[in-house]
Order: sequence, then C-alpha cells, then structure tokens
Amino acid sequence: SRSFKKTDTIITLANGTVIGADQFVVMAGPCSVESYENTLEIAKSASKSGATILRGGAYKPRTSPYAFQGMGIDGLKILREVADKFNMAVVSEIMSEDLIEAFEPYVDIYQIGTRNMQNYNLLKQLGARTQKPILLKRGMSATIEEWLMSAEYIMASGNENVILCERGIRTFEKYTRNTLDISAVLAIKELSHLPIVIDPSHAAGKYSMIERLSMASQAVGADGIIVEIHPDPEHALSDGAQSLKLEKFDSMMGKLKELSSVLDKK
Ligand code: PEP
Ligand code: MN
Repeated sequence: SRSFKKTDTIITLANGTVIGADQFVVMAGPCSVESYENTLEIAKSASKSGATILRGGAYKPRTSPYAFQGMGIDGLKILREVADKFNMAVVSEIMSEDLIEAFEPYVDIYQIGTRNMQNYNLLKQLGARTQKPILLKRGMSATIEEWLMSAEYIMASGNENVILCERGIRTFEKYTRNTLDISAVLAIKELSHLPIVIDPSHAAGKYSMIERLSMASQAVGADGIIVEIHPDPEHALSDGAQSLKLEKFDSMMGKLKELSSVLDKK
C-alpha cells in the first residue's frame, strides 16, 4: 500500500519498456497464439504501430473444455521468436505452478488470468520462483481489496514486480461482456504504488468499443492497455468478436498519441 511504500513501483523490461512511469504502454496481440505465420503478421504490424509488448495465450482458460485450449509450449516458443524480431517483450498467461520453469525462458511478463486471481498457491509459487513481472488480472467478481490482497500474496512471497490489470467485472449488465470499472484505476492510484493497465477487450467483448475505451484508459491515468488484435477476427480461434483488425489498431494508436499530447499539457 501507499502508506507502506511512498514511491511508485516502476518496472523496466529487458527491451527497454518502462511500466508505471510517464509512458502509456501498449501490449497487443492475439487472444490465442494460432501459428507462427499469424503471430509474425500480428507482431510486425503491432510493433510498427507502436506496441512494445506482444500478448498471446498459449495455455487458454476456456469456458468449454471442447474449445481450443492453446498451442502450449510451442505457442510460447513462437511468441519469443517473433517478439525478438521486433524488440518486443512477451506477456502470456500461466494457469499452473507446474509450468513456471517452462515459461521462464520465453516470457518477460507472466499473466495471471481473472479466473486464477485467487489461486493462492499459483500466486505464492510465482512470487517465490520468478523475479519477472506478474500481470495480475482482477478477478471478475473480486473487490479492489481482494485484488490488492492477491498482489500482496505475490509480493510477500518474494516478487514485488506486480502490474495490476482491470479487465471488467461481472454486473447485471449483459450488453457488454463485462463492466469496465474505470474508477478502479483511480482507486488503485490512491491505495497502491503498483502500476495498473486496462484490458478493454475482455471488458467490452466488442471490437467497436475498444478505441474509445482505450482513450478513456489513457485519460483516467492508467499506465497502459492490453488489447486483442487479429488480421482476420472472424476466423480467430478465440475472442474474434472483441479483436481489432490490424489497420483499426494502427489508427487507434494514432489517436492515443494525439490524446497523450493533449493530456501532457494539463
Ligand atoms: C486473455 O487475456 O486472453 C484472458 C483469458 O483474459 P481474462 O483472464 O481477463 O479473461
Ligand atoms: Mn481473450
């Protein structure tokens, strides 16, 4: 908490990306890693547009056990190989502590998904067994206090490099996939020294809302966003409906840049 640590936590990745200082960091990529070629096309375009971190799921927490479960370790290898071509960092979700050593050479940031925010053994094991940053998504039904306590589990176990991620919470509203709790950013900035990013993709569930929610994320003072993008969303293996086409992502990045110059003058 802020009362314990007065200065903001700033995280610097091997590729030079700094999270939690003044730059607005953009993590982008497919929901799932689908193939080498697809990932290459996405990373090449995303990096040209200004994203410095490549996201992609290799182990997927799917609602149905019959849905695509991810490429596994081959997916992590693809992410690493492709990201290195464009000096991008890699963020990917880990669902089990059994895989920590397997992930270590391939990722720059370990992602904990919404469904595992209160998997305390996973939190403790990651805290103890890696020093790489942990992107901790908010549980879909978690309060801000519960979310911060999960961050404490990681930090108390030995890894203080935690990045929080607001990805929308469950409410009575069904029009959007989840309800983006934009004020959570302000609450976290009051309560915590940790950086926080927003995931507009899983919050909205609709690609048409991503640009404006990303602009709102920047305006509210988030440290960045994590966004799903795909060259052919209709045929994506997961979350196509919320994935931005590469050209749309590029034009969004232009708008975020314009917005940041306006916000800087404030
Ligand atoms: C994802 O990032 O693809 C994902 C599964 O996110 P969440 O855990 O927020 O649902
Ligand atoms: Mn997804």
